[in-house]
Amino acid sequence: MDVGFIGLGNMGFPMAARLIEAGHPLVVFDTRPDIVAKAVALGAQAGTSPRDIADRAETVLASLPSVQASRDVATGPDGVIKGQRVRRFVDLSTVGSTAAQEIQGRLSARDIAMLDSPVSGGVGGATRGALALMVSGPRDEFEVVEPILANLGTPFFVDTKPGAGQTMKLVNNLLAATALATTCEVVVMGVKAGLDPSVMIDVINAGSGATNASRDKFPKSILPRTFDYGFATGLMVKDVRLYLEEATSLGLPTEMAAAVGRVWELVMNEEGPDSDFTCAIKPLEAAAGVIVDGRPTS
Ligand code: NAD
Repeated sequence: MDVGFIGLGNMGFPMAARLIEAGHPLVVFDTRPDIVAKAVALGAQAGTSPRDIADRAETVLASLPSVQASRDVATGPDGVIKGQRVRRFVDLSTVGSTAAQEIQGRLSARDIAMLDSPVSGGVGGATRGALALMVSGPRDEFEVVEPILANLGTPFFVDTKPGAGQTMKLVNNLLAATALATTCEVVVMGVKAGLDPSVMIDVINAGSGATNASRDKFPKSILPRTFDYGFATGLMVKDVRLYLEEATSLGLPTEMAAAVGRVWELVMNEEGPDSDFTCAIKPLEAAAGVIVDGRPTS
């Protein structure tokens, strides 16, 4: 099946590469020509706009960095909504349920089906085809795209209700944001008290405090001080803000989420929105006057 792919960033590029590898004729677009050229070198065709992609493919996938980018790509003046061939739009981005419902409403008025399908599993999961995909929208459309999405990981059908996949993703990411912020805080505390950070992470991972933050993010990007996990601090803040908006609109308490949100806002102020989110440890290190260094001493 001809597939369009818009947004070839940290997540989109490895996902697009997997689809090319699986033999799908892929037509791609990104506002960065350099990354489009890289995809063309792998076998993709280059498109000139979201509309052009939607003129050339029945199924259009997108992986975009902000709510506004998803809105523009889907429903903007040169958006997917104007395409002649497109039948369905699958948004792999995290945009929250309100924006997903709004986009779904505008696309369905033009007979274009919308599936929201935010993903979890990071760049590693995108590269290995091991993402969790949280899909909501029309069931028959899910069945059409399931074989495509299966190249990227495990598609979970969350609900027919537009935006339900987004709600699921915000729940997941609030947990991930909490685990990373908390693990940074406790490891800095241990180092200040004289513990070795690598020993701490080994113990946590053999004990009841283990999470994806301690199993994956610390060993890969914090202990070696490479800060290159592949998820921007600005995107983490986006997701926590979206969670807070959704929980608040449901009239729910947000004690934990609000505290986690304050931590991430501080990280963004100190380290910048483009910093890797594993930099969350740096303001804590500065406040404590320690460095969490797990590199082997030679
Ligand atoms: P990114 O910033 O690395 O990539 C976004 C890409 O979209 C860039 O290449 C950018 O040039 C392109 N883009 C922006 N506006 C565009 C437009 N109007 N038209 C075409 N292309 C445009 O972001 P990412 O880390 O790949 O994240 C993408 C989405 O996936 C986000 O919603 C993020 O929250 C979500 N996500 C990211 C991760 C991760 O680990 N990075 C994990 C799960 C989910």
